[in-house]
Amino acid sequence: MSSDNCIFCKIVRGEIPSRKVYEDDEILAFHDINPLAPVHVLAVPKEHVDSMATLEDRHAGVMGRMMVLAQRLAADQGSPDGFRVICNTGRIGRQDVYHLHLHVLGGSNPLPGMIARST
Ligand code: AMP
Ligand code: ZN
Repeated sequence: MSSDNCIFCKIVRGEIPSRKVYEDDEILAFHDINPLAPVHVLAVPKEHVDSMATLEDRHAGVMGRMMVLAQRLAADQGSPDGFRVICNTGRIGRQDVYHLHLHVLGGSNPLPGMIARST
C-alpha cells in the first residue's frame, strides 16, 4: 500500500488523531483504538514499511530501537512487571493494517495465553 492511503502514515502526519504516548525522529507510539488489554499501545516506524516481511537490512536500527522502547512504553502505561510484544505479519499472521507496528500489551495479571493450544 502506498503511504498516501495508509492509516498509520496519516496518524504519523497528524491527519488522523491518535492518543500519542511517545514520539521521536523515527518512531511514534499511540494507544490502540480497540485495546485488547489494560495496556495496549502500538509503536510504528515513521517511515512506511508494510510489514516485517518487507524489512530491509537498513531497518535494523529502527526495529531494534522499537524493541528497546517497548519496556518503557509498558512501564509508562502501568505495566512495569512485564508485557508482551506482538507483530502480526501478513495473511498468516492476521495483519490488518499494512504499516509495520508492534503491539505492546500488558497491565493484566497475567495476560491470557498466547494462542489456544487446542487449534
Ligand atoms: P493488526 O491486526 O496487527 O494489523 O492490528 C491493527 C491494530 O490497529 C488493531 O489492534 C486496531 O485496533 C488498531 N487500529 C486501527 N486503526 C487505528 C487507529 N486509527 N488508531 C489506533 N489504533 C488503530
Ligand atoms: Zn504507512
